[in-house]
Amino acid sequence: MHISEIQRQYFKNGETKSISFRIQQLQILQQAILKNESRIYEALKADLGKCQMEGYLTEVGFTLNDIDFMIKNIRKFAKHKKVKTPAIFLGGSSFIIPEPYGTVLIIGPWNYPFQLVMVPLIGAIAAGNCAVVKPSELTPNVSRVIAAIINDTFKSEYIAAIEGGVEESQKLLTQKFDYIFYTGSTTVGRIVMTEAAKNLTPVTLELGGKSPCIIDKDTNIKNAAKRVVWGKFLNCGQTCVAPDYVLVHKNIKEEFITNAIAAINEFYGSDPLEAEQYPHIVNERHFDRLLSLMNDGNILYGGKNNREKLYIQPTLIDSVSQDSSIMQEEIFGPIMPILEFDNLDTVISFINERPKPLALYYFSSNKSNIAKVLNETSSGGTCINDTINHITTSSLPFGGVGDSGMGSYHGKETFETFSHRKSVLHNQITYDFKLKYPPYKVTINLMKKVFRFLLN
Ligand code: NAD
Repeated sequence: MHISEIQRQYFKNGETKSISFRIQQLQILQQAILKNESRIYEALKADLGKCQMEGYLTEVGFTLNDIDFMIKNIRKFAKHKKVKTPAIFLGGSSFIIPEPYGTVLIIGPWNYPFQLVMVPLIGAIAAGNCAVVKPSELTPNVSRVIAAIINDTFKSEYIAAIEGGVEESQKLLTQKFDYIFYTGSTTVGRIVMTEAAKNLTPVTLELGGKSPCIIDKDTNIKNAAKRVVWGKFLNCGQTCVAPDYVLVHKNIKEEFITNAIAAINEFYGSDPLEAEQYPHIVNERHFDRLLSLMNDGNILYGGKNNREKLYIQPTLIDSVSQDSSIMQEEIFGPIMPILEFDNLDTVISFINERPKPLALYYFSSNKSNIAKVLNETSSGGTCINDTINHITTSSLPFGGVGDSGMGSYHGKETFETFSHRKSVLHNQITYDFKLKYPPYKVTINLMKKVFRFLLN
């Protein structure tokens, strides 16, 4: 029997629906993560060169906080929500019940390989589902630890981790799940949605793309440069919401570049290839891809690399042509093209001619220009005067729009993503509104009046 079938059978016994069961399972997961914490850091170091601090801040700490948040709020989130009942159903009541979908499939990418499967899993458990987790094969050490944590902790009819690559993922996609939560590239997102459509399975697609970063002239250039450099080179540029390229006002371009170089030196030293806290590229294929992106344009800073160690120095590049690969595909590495502009309208048109990004960044102190950017562009999320941090706030849903994805999670949204909102009208049985039954005995004009009164 397929794993989805095994879990569907188990789901039917109703055990996963009890709130105390869900809380208990979240606590068990929390303990298993804590028990394996050092193994997780070792695996992140081996696969991506992540230092422990970055591993804690962006993966383990993020996940543990999310478990705490969910345990604290689950009873509130799972409550039946009472809503207004129209007068026509006098004596009745209406409410919304968040109910689990059943069995969910979670497919993860390699760049934050731990938290990008664990946070959805927390949502799946909290909402009362069974789950199958497929971590990325490109970070094999982390995949192994995830599989160990899950498979040593839970019975497989409830939660199972299945390791493997594209083939394994494709096999899972042929099974019928009740929900699919996929994080990865836009190209594979299309494949996932096509497969899901065959079973009418709803999906969340957390995808990527090119996230632009606009630096306008009326900003604090030093702080802007620091925040952009931090967001771009975190995890060696392998972050879905990293600023992909920068559009900087021509009056401040030189000053921005000087400050960006100073920030790189401050964060990683003059030779980042030696820096303990600077991660590496995930594998040779991505390393070679990134090097080939540097063929276009003029390297202003960086460019040094070491294939054996998979290191690429933080690199600033300008004079890139718009039809070059670096401006066509998501960079997903430590190379930052710097383009200049002198008119905000032109920049907005430039962005709007391209697929809707996952994130859009705008640095400015000008309130009307901030309002203009918010009003005239569309993106999964927007961060003003900062990068990445909009996704760290549990009260802001995180997700894409258009080519950057559909659906969202984080905070309460994670619980809702894995819950079907069932609408219930509980009518009383004694009083009956006879006018609604045929043969209709009133004029249409009277019915219009009654309708408006009773249904509002
Ligand atoms: P990917 O799409 O290549 O792989 C992701 C997962 O899909 C892996 O588990 C892989 O095994 C599986 N997969 C790969 N090819 C498949 C196929 N043909 N059929 C079925 N499954 C397949 O993505 P990636 O390279 O791991 O991640 C990088 C991309 O993910 C970037 O575009 C990045 O922006 C995006 N991303 C988005 C988010 C987000 O939250 N929106 C987060 C991280 C990464």
